[in-house]
Amino acid sequence: MPAVTKSAALLAECSLVTRTPGGCAWCGKALPARRRTWCSDRCGEAFWKNHWWSLARRAAKRRDKYRCTKCGHVLPKRPARTAFRTESAYKKAMAAWRAARKAGRLEVNHIVAANGRHAQISCVHHVENLETLCIACHALHTAELRDRVKATKAERAAAAAG
Ligand SMILES: [Zn+2]
Ligand SMILES: [Zn+2]
Ligand SMILES: [Zn+2]
Repeated sequence: MPAVTKSAALLAECSLVTRTPGGCAWCGKALPARRRTWCSDRCGEAFWKNHWWSLARRAAKRRDKYRCTKCGHVLPKRPARTAFRTESAYKKAMAAWRAARKAGRLEVNHIVAANGRHAQISCVHHVENLETLCIACHALHTAELRDRVKATKAERAAAAAG
């Protein structure tokens, strides 16, 4: 089964895994009978939350309290129906809210860039390597990264040319 092989390879290279003989790969506590990797489902879940992109992304947003870690941007609150006296006022507020939510979407960035290792399951998704950014800050960060890569390449080329 390839899934098993894959998680074994992941466990072998992961820096978060504890390697106590006979211990849980996450917390290191002695494994109960019939458990081979994790002492509990909680430990297995904690591991996957740091490796499975969709889970890791959600965990990072939750940790950052759904706000941009650079500028503090938060998503606007959904308007409550009861706060509006007329249906049309409510609909208008909802439309404005939807537009704001789309424009101010929160994304999750890899602090150490994934550089093509951005598979669905990977150690680059360790939650400590993730930060929540608004799209403006994320775009800025990506542009900076691109400039840095370009500068490094130019420097190398210059050095190679002597
Ligand atoms: Zn454990
Ligand atoms: Zn921001
Ligand atoms: Zn890992």
